[in-house]
Amino acid sequence: MDYQALAELLFPDVTATPEELEARFPQRNLPEGAVVTRMAPSPTGFVHLGNLVQGMISERMAHRTNGVLFLRVEDTDAKREVPGAVEVLISSLKHYNIHFDEGATIDGDNGAYGPYRQRQRAEIYHVYAKKLVMEGKAYPCFCTEEELTAMREKQEANKETTGYYGPYALWRDRSMEDIQAQLAAGNPWVLRFRSTGSIENQFKFDDLVKGKLTITENNVDHVLLKSDGIPTYHFAHAVDDHLMRTTHVVRGDEWLSTLPFHIQLFQALGFKLPKYVHIGPLMKMDGASKRKLSKRKDPELALTYYKAEGFSALAMREYLMTVLNSNFEDWRRANPDADMDTFPFSPKKLNPAGSLFDYAKLIDVSKNVISRMSAEDVYRQLTEWALEFQPDFGEKLAEDPDYAKAILAIGRGGKKPRKDLATWKDAKDYMGFFYDDYLESPVFDQRFSRETIADVLTRFLEGFDPADDSAVWFNKVKAITEAIGFTTDMKAYKQNPDAFPGTVSDVSTFIRQAVTGKTNSPDLYTVMQLLGPDRTAERIRKALAILN
Ligand code: GLU
Repeated sequence: MDYQALAELLFPDVTATPEELEARFPQRNLPEGAVVTRMAPSPTGFVHLGNLVQGMISERMAHRTNGVLFLRVEDTDAKREVPGAVEVLISSLKHYNIHFDEGATIDGDNGAYGPYRQRQRAEIYHVYAKKLVMEGKAYPCFCTEEELTAMREKQEANKETTGYYGPYALWRDRSMEDIQAQLAAGNPWVLRFRSTGSIENQFKFDDLVKGKLTITENNVDHVLLKSDGIPTYHFAHAVDDHLMRTTHVVRGDEWLSTLPFHIQLFQALGFKLPKYVHIGPLMKMDGASKRKLSKRKDPELALTYYKAEGFSALAMREYLMTVLNSNFEDWRRANPDADMDTFPFSPKKLNPAGSLFDYAKLIDVSKNVISRMSAEDVYRQLTEWALEFQPDFGEKLAEDPDYAKAILAIGRGGKKPRKDLATWKDAKDYMGFFYDDYLESPVFDQRFSRETIADVLTRFLEGFDPADDSAVWFNKVKAITEAIGFTTDMKAYKQNPDAFPGTVSDVSTFIRQAVTGKTNSPDLYTVMQLLGPDRTAERIRKALAILN
């Protein structure tokens, strides 16, 4: 077979050469050890946790080594494409602090290794397709759908592996005349890879997450170009990652099954193989067994879910780092206040089997993260979120920033900060009572008579002096406790509860409920300071009116 002639026959318009492309996209001038990696999503409009995981890992690998993170849009499947998907992806990742140095942007391309949208790279793929044909490493296949279906059915009936290989590779060694006749008849064709592998052979491969793998060679003549000339993922990623000078491919481990083919393809093309980082899927418990998070069953797979639920971007990142890396939690314990980007991230510490997504853990991590933020930060993020998702509350926060920040500053800082908020959604319930519109009427404990409660509130109001410091304030509460025959001795009460009609804690609760509408609140003295004497007194009077 005259492969040169075949290549000309199949790709008469391709005049550029691989050498020209090599020169157009030279090796990057980066420091030793710099990682060049990418995200290569298909623009389907659905941005999920897996994208964020991949983004975070890639981002850390690139930026910790002064390398490059770029975005390539894998839009070869026009049917799955959703308009605006690239914008949604870029803005979602930006929200989680993942910024691209290069690649597809909302307004076009940024960088010298583009185009970064695969549909715009058809000519580039054809240069390499032609080269492979010229070297006898690829050939046209004219099989119809019916022929391929019949082949599969036969293989299934014979209990053989399905696929286009060995004796089933019908067009692998056909004559030039046969090919010419098909082309003359205008029949569609795909370009297939001529595999030289055998399933009898195995070789070792080192994946940065999975470790040492034993891989069986690929013997299937996979499709490189579809009948419309558009490449498959396999071919496109080999060409793109080579020409874009990618050093590390971070991707889901669903690609492991075609990795043997990818390795072969890089060899056939004469490309250096990048390092691979195959990450396990996020799993969840379903009853007693683990399963992958599913788009259909699990709303928590979508990133939009976390935004709507009010999770802070930082908490999400911190949580994912915690479950992805075996050594992050220890690091965090040793460095409670450090910026998470100073964590010495290594793909080798990623969990090879995939990580378990655990909502309770997310809540826990999230509370810690928010408790470490400054009041200023909490205010900014909460207000931004609330203006979008709880506009009424958001406007109240925005109306008086100093007041809101003072509320959010309660119990912040110090060794044991309060951990009231896991999400921004929790904030209204936690601090809503500071705003008169959200104050709920107190529901007092039925164990105490209305008279007793009213007595406490009346006494408190009479003795209330906004100039009191917290010690004087609390002494007054204790004095009331004793005056009504309740005890301030909690120890004695615990030993013999029946001996006392109530305690100082009950007295505080009556006052707390009158002022906040709730049985739980941040430090009551501070709450009163923030509300101011007039609103405090007014609330107590209102509660008294309910009781009388
Ligand atoms: N477009 C592929 C996907 O969305 C990219 C895989 C890769 O990163 O190489 O799964």
